[in-house]
Amino acid sequence: MKDMSEEERTQAIEKIKEVCKTFCGECPSYKGTGETELAFCALGKSNAIKEEKGCLCPSCPITGQMSLRWNYYCTRGAGKEQSAAGNAEK
Ligand code: SF4
Ligand code: SF4
Repeated sequence: MKDMSEEERTQAIEKIKEVCKTFCGECPSYKGTGETELAFCALGKSNAIKEEKGCLCPSCPITGQMSLRWNYYCTRGAGKEQSAAGNAEK
């Protein structure tokens, strides 16, 4: 997304959130935390999710669309952060 204008980026994030709410929004790590934010793979860590209780990201279509290779973006950071940190790939 780095070559996008600010408006294009905002639209792309909104599309990711639409998909994300049926994955992150339903995942055991997310439910019950009070979190309302989404798209952690693009935006980075959650302020509310602290415990890793299962992650549905590997089955989310955004994973393929954005060539993501990690999981637990809510606790470990966005794709580019995990890439930079050298986190093990899924
Ligand atoms: S990043 Fe993974 S663990 Fe975190 S809320 Fe989304 S699906 Fe759940
Ligand atoms: S890969 Fe994970 S964080 Fe990203 S949109 Fe899909 S479910 Fe949400």
